[in-house]
Amino acid sequence: MFPITVKYSTFARFQADVGIHGNNEADTAAKSALEFEIVKFKIPSTDLKHFIKLYINSLWQIFWDFCDTSKLYSIQNKVNIPYNFNLKRSDQVVISRIRIGHSKLTHTYLLKGEQQPECIFCDCPLTLHHIFLECPDTLPARNSLLNNVQTMQDLFTQVNISDILQFLQECDFYNKIYFFFYTFIFFIILILKFYARRMGR
Ligand SMILES: [Zn+2]
Repeated sequence: MFPITVKYSTFARFQADVGIHGNNEADTAAKSALEFEIVKFKIPSTDLKHFIKLYINSLWQIFWDFCDTSKLYSIQNKVNIPYNFNLKRSDQVVISRIRIGHSKLTHTYLLKGEQQPECIFCDCPLTLHHIFLECPDTLPARNSLLNNVQTMQDLFTQVNISDILQFLQECDFYNKIYFFFYTFIFFIILILKFYARRMGR
């Protein structure tokens, strides 16, 4: 590497179109268009597609912001982020369960009317948050595969999905999270919460 010392600097201001042939004519022609009569004409509907998409996304975002207490909101608070990990079906289901924070392992008790399951190592409520971020029993696998992340949002932004799945396999949680239809019920609860807030205003 060679040291470089700059002793003097010179600044100069130029007009961008000076010396460029045809620029003045182009500017004059553009300004003359302001004097033309406004003409109505049809445009293809596809030209509006982008703006319609933006509008729908903004409505969707408003709806989603009402769900700011949900576990998924803490992971993903913007609705227009593509979510496509190109996984096989069972892996997609497992990852979705983790993202929404509801799984067979942690939420079957609600349907069965039983006590909430506890971690056998910590005697605290068994949640996905506990498994991925807190439990000392999973710490070695977290250190080696999950970079010991501190939040669920970091888990999905800083860790490869394949490592998350491997972590579940090594800790024997994969099959306990798979095979569950709680997602449907979860979204029903979200919708009911949304309308309950609207009615309470
Ligand atoms: Zn634990």
